[in-house]
Amino acid sequence: MQTIRGFRDILPEQISLWQRVEKEAFALFDSFGFKEIRIPVLEKTDLFARSIGETTDIVEKEMYTFPDSKGAHLTLRPEATASICRSYIQHKMYAEDPVRKFYMTGPMFRRERPQKGRYRQFYQIDAEVFGIESAYIDAQLIFLLNELFKRLGLTGLSAHVNSLGCPECRPSFQKALLDFLGERKDALCENCARRIKKNPLRILDCKVESCQRALSGAPATIDHLCPACDDHFSIVRSALKKQGVDFMVDKSLVRGLDYYTRTAWEIKTTTLGAQSAVAGGGRYDGLVKELGGPATPAIGFAIGFDRLVEVLEQLELESKRSSLDLFIVALGDAALAKGYLWSCELNQNGIRTEVDFRGKSLKSLMKRANKLNATHVLIVGENELNKNQLILRNMDTKEQSFISLDNLVSELMTSLKK
Ligand code: AMP
Repeated sequence: MQTIRGFRDILPEQISLWQRVEKEAFALFDSFGFKEIRIPVLEKTDLFARSIGETTDIVEKEMYTFPDSKGAHLTLRPEATASICRSYIQHKMYAEDPVRKFYMTGPMFRRERPQKGRYRQFYQIDAEVFGIESAYIDAQLIFLLNELFKRLGLTGLSAHVNSLGCPECRPSFQKALLDFLGERKDALCENCARRIKKNPLRILDCKVESCQRALSGAPATIDHLCPACDDHFSIVRSALKKQGVDFMVDKSLVRGLDYYTRTAWEIKTTTLGAQSAVAGGGRYDGLVKELGGPATPAIGFAIGFDRLVEVLEQLELESKRSSLDLFIVALGDAALAKGYLWSCELNQNGIRTEVDFRGKSLKSLMKRANKLNATHVLIVGENELNKNQLILRNMDTKEQSFISLDNLVSELMTSLKK
């Protein structure tokens, strides 16, 4: 049996980077006042269709949608924002305090063409903020992402930032876009020719080469902003500048989901080839209302967890950190009985310890200690027990010292505490 295409196992030997990213991200979210939320992987299809947009690639082509045994239309979540909005509304979180900050991590599902950096089950780390209209929160989220990547030691990233405007300025932009597309209709792909009536903005996001060519010189949202959106975007830019966050204004950035308004951004890397976006986000001031809640400004981002780990792997930032403080080489039954008790007690006290219970030879146990990358080995056999002199070997320096049975655990804790 094999995994299905685009789905994969993340194996124990790969997991340390995932855990390090999670730890850094959660600590940072915590200090900025975010709380963790956990949402279902399965939702009603309608939730995604209405929020992400009927004419987006995700909804048109990529969702895992199926009827359950009673015929309800269900979808494996392709992203988290819609579900978090649903939760904010369903639990009337706005009633007690409209300002809420959430983060989460978990799998998302999109039936895209699998390749490196693109999977059908992939993971995201999401952060969402509800109830704050101020442009400072936009800047703060981009700053936060930048800070996280810095802490993780990532280099070679660039933040592309744009403003998509609001319902106030959309009509003027849409008109300019339609005028522009009018002369180029024939050059558009079939899909875009269809979208032109329903949702012309989506055409800007089309990956088909002929469409990309036809779009060269197309009008940009940023040139059609209403005064309020214009002010908002300049506050974002000047805050980022003051903080020394490296970014560029990218007029062509539109994002693949319909709900975005005003600030939108992507963090791109040069190290992953075609799949260059490691994170993306933006404002979605209309979505809570659209889904049946009160008008609530909101903004969020998603980090592509798989891609982030791949970039870190390429940078080989994860040193071969040992995951074992002590390997007990116990030779003979009496030594095993003692080794068993010591290992439990040491682990209880935070010293990562292992004993091999299979009764192997000294040589093969030393080999195993090496394989497990243990920093220290405690050697105990009948002889050592009789002499009350156990051998503690530092595997890095190869130095050996003797250690007596009296207060062994506390002695070891003192010498091995990092
Ligand atoms: P999006 O929700 O499309 O803005 O995606 C946010 C981030 O998730 C992207 O910047 C990617 O890093 C990541 N991502 C999106 N789709 C995939 C996928 N199929 N496989 C792996 N990562 C993905």
